[in-house]
Amino acid sequence: MRIEIATLFPEMCESVLCESIIGRARAKNAIEVHCHQIRAYTTDRHNRVDDSPFGGGMGMVMQAQPVYDCWKAVREMSDLPMHTVYLSPKGRVLTQERVKELAQMPRLFLLCGHYEGIDQRVLDRIVDEEISIGDYVVTGGELPALVLTDAVARMCENVLPAKEAFEEESHYNGLLEYPQYTRPEIWEGEAVPPVLLSGHHKNIAQWRAQQSADITQKRRPDLWAKWSKEQE
Ligand code: SAM
Repeated sequence: MRIEIATLFPEMCESVLCESIIGRARAKNAIEVHCHQIRAYTTDRHNRVDDSPFGGGMGMVMQAQPVYDCWKAVREMSDLPMHTVYLSPKGRVLTQERVKELAQMPRLFLLCGHYEGIDQRVLDRIVDEEISIGDYVVTGGELPALVLTDAVARMCENVLPAKEAFEEESHYNGLLEYPQYTRPEIWEGEAVPPVLLSGHHKNIAQWRAQQSADITQKRRPDLWAKWSKEQE
């Protein structure tokens, strides 16, 4: 998996992507992530990449030219086919299901907007899909792109120690995860559920499945209804 992030703030992305699990995965080439500075592609002599919106209104809009030239240059950097995603509050809200599908793609180009967004003409030209990280607005596409990169990367081979590490987590099979406990056995008078200390794997699996069902039913009736329907 190769991920290209096009942004006006590549250092912001790099500072996250060099840490922890994703940082280690990049270091051992389990995934490739490259950050590209859109401003490097502007033809404006003052290095501008934005201008005020036609029709008036607040803020600035990122111009089509630097975004398009950046996209074209990045596309030529590898022979792998590229799926272009614009991170946008107007996009389809990201789900684990879509993450699984995106993780099967050889190469993603993640376009980060800023200010009031990006000139629609270049979006119409290059974007395959718009993805939102939720029904709220953040100041730029960098955090959404990092969320997407992290979610996709952890599904790629050799990023997590074993497939079970993501297969047993919330959302993977449509349910929320059971509660987790670690040492000490008693903390501030609160004991760990005894079944987890029993060493009886079948009982532990049953307890966890029940907890997972109960929590999903209580907290996310929408997910529970969907999952129950799929079991019919
Ligand atoms: N004017 C835009 C609108 O009302 O739809 C919002 C622009 S927002 C301040 C700037 C950039 O942040 C967007 O171009 C997009 O790349 C990113 N962004 C903001 N919220 C997002 C979300 N929920 N999901 C994905 N990207 C988001």
